[in-house]
Amino acid sequence: MTPSFCDAHNHLQDERFAPGLSDVISTSREAGITRCVVNGTSESDWPQVAALARSHPDLIIPSFGLHPWKAHQRSADWFTILTDLFAEFPHAGVGECGLDRWMNNHDLPDQTEVFLQQLELAAQLNSPLSIHCLQAWGPLLDCLRDHSRPERGFLLHSYGGSAPLVPNFSTLGAYFSFSGYFLHPRKESTRQAFRQVPADRLLLESDAPDMLPPEDFVTASLLDPDGTALNHPANLPAIASGLAKILGIDPEDLSTLTNNNFTRFFTPYPANP
Ligand SMILES: [Zn+2]
Repeated sequence: MTPSFCDAHNHLQDERFAPGLSDVISTSREAGITRCVVNGTSESDWPQVAALARSHPDLIIPSFGLHPWKAHQRSADWFTILTDLFAEFPHAGVGECGLDRWMNNHDLPDQTEVFLQQLELAAQLNSPLSIHCLQAWGPLLDCLRDHSRPERGFLLHSYGGSAPLVPNFSTLGAYFSFSGYFLHPRKESTRQAFRQVPADRLLLESDAPDMLPPEDFVTASLLDPDGTALNHPANLPAIASGLAKILGIDPEDLSTLTNNNFTRFFTPYPANP
């Protein structure tokens, strides 16, 4: 049996996928992707995420959130619009949301307010919460420590924090997803952090169309109309083989391990529907 893989974080709703989306989905299925979590980032893309979840219920798990990059664009009603989505999708994730001090002109107090509202929603619903964090690990740790969290834990997607912080977050319930971008030679400190992640908290993600892995791990190539290379969710098996090597474990064992973790964290969506 060919191993199956679950993509814990991507953005299939991204307009860069739109011209060939049905091919992207069929190629992903052929590559063994059995589930993917499609993360909305703002009010403007939540309808597309919902539409994808309706049309591919066996593959796509929707997640709805306001990304720190988009927080300044929110309407006065954003939180009501967000919470209303859970009437139709009670098992959806919350996110992508989080904190980011890497972006230009960041407003951390405003980002924190927006993040805490989403954290509280996820805690109330016990939803799988997908967190983005760049250069704000201390403030994120404080937010998570000082507030209620979803009972099932939360996901630090594309975890780029340090190795010593891994236990601080995992004690609070963190899962950590590895993306192919971390296979670039210069990302050794991130690979070091993933060696510290507890086996029952490890997940795989593409973050497609972004976080393109190095060329050796691109098995499904895809170009923007302007010729820019995009990441494809079907690269996930190659990314997994890269991670298996880093961790010194058998690729099939990594598939089983991450699928079990996926099933637990994203319940009621089993890795193999
Ligand atoms: Zn993302």
